[in-house]
Amino acid sequence: MSKTAFIPVNEPLLGQKEKKYLLECIETGWISSEGAFVEEFEKKLAKVSLREFGIAVSSGTAALDVAIEALGISKGDEVIMPSFTIISCINQIVRVGAIPILVDSDPNTWNMNINQIEGKITVRTKAIMVVHIYGLPVDLDPVLSLAKNYNLKVIEDAAEMHGQSYKGKPCGSFGDISTLSFYPNKHITTGEGGMILTNDAQLAKNCRSLRNLCFQPNKRFVHERLGWNYRMTNMQAALGVAQLSRLDEFVNRKTRMGALYNKLLKGVQGIQLPLESTPYANNIYWVFGLILDKSIDFDAKEAMIRLGRLGIGCRPFFYPMHQQPVLRKMGLFKGEYYPEAEKLYQRGFYIPSGMALSDEQINRVAEALVKVLK
Ligand SMILES: *Cc1c(COP(=O)(O)O)cnc(C)c1O
Repeated sequence: MSKTAFIPVNEPLLGQKEKKYLLECIETGWISSEGAFVEEFEKKLAKVSLREFGIAVSSGTAALDVAIEALGISKGDEVIMPSFTIISCINQIVRVGAIPILVDSDPNTWNMNINQIEGKITVRTKAIMVVHIYGLPVDLDPVLSLAKNYNLKVIEDAAEMHGQSYKGKPCGSFGDISTLSFYPNKHITTGEGGMILTNDAQLAKNCRSLRNLCFQPNKRFVHERLGWNYRMTNMQAALGVAQLSRLDEFVNRKTRMGALYNKLLKGVQGIQLPLESTPYANNIYWVFGLILDKSIDFDAKEAMIRLGRLGIGCRPFFYPMHQQPVLRKMGLFKGEYYPEAEKLYQRGFYIPSGMALSDEQINRVAEALVKVLK
């Protein structure tokens, strides 16, 4: 690769094992969701997540849709969740006519501000959706104890947390139901894909049915309920099994990437770096995010343009839910402000953080960043 080649924001790392398992699907003809890799992937992922059941689906978004539906969240129910997250978290809540109740972000971890949760609980509150953001888990214990006291369900969106743990216990193991994504920028990828994890047999059965159009075993084309075709293919699961066997390697790579960026960028004026750790976890850097200080007289958008000119691919941070045009048009979040979430979007962005990123590329990104901030 030439020294001036563009550095993309994400590039996955696929190897011989992925190739071998994928070829196996083609050679045996097992390419649909009926193939054996799907169950193997579900079982192995549930095991590393200390969960009883894994249900593979076609994306992380699909996993969230199914989880919300399976928990029976419906019209008029309230679900407490962060404003600063991806739209996938809110889609199904809004579609069923339930009401998303937002909390702001913690300016240091960028996760939901858990101190705002209790004040938002009402008689209509049905669930809390916890979303771990960018590499550090939410402080779960206080959330789980609130949920217990108020008899609320907990949905854990662990899409960005493969291989991460909270106080030594794996992310994906907390609450009533957890969801994961295997999009190519996640720590392990299946191209597109997702997983639902739970310990509740009835909930798992429900999710399996919802993922597969709610076909009934004995009356196949007679439906009592509406589901989706959110099945994962055997080809996706083949990649998943191969990638999962490399999870430690991937977490190590990302941790090293974060450490190198931190070393190169520490002391650089004008930016807030991600926290390296909290009392309950070390950062696994799903992405390496930055926040521009007040001392910088341009915003994240401008910073990304300037870095782009130097051959560095960047991505904006999430756009807060309370500002989303599609949701405002529905009449949601009138007069609501979440200043930390708004600031994260205005001032935050992430630099190349993919699994295939080399040390040489990290050095070039850091150099370009220093130039842009001068
Ligand atoms: C990536 C992601 C999703 C969505 O996953 P897809 O597989 O892209 O649908 C959901 N939640 C979070 C927090 C994510 O980062």
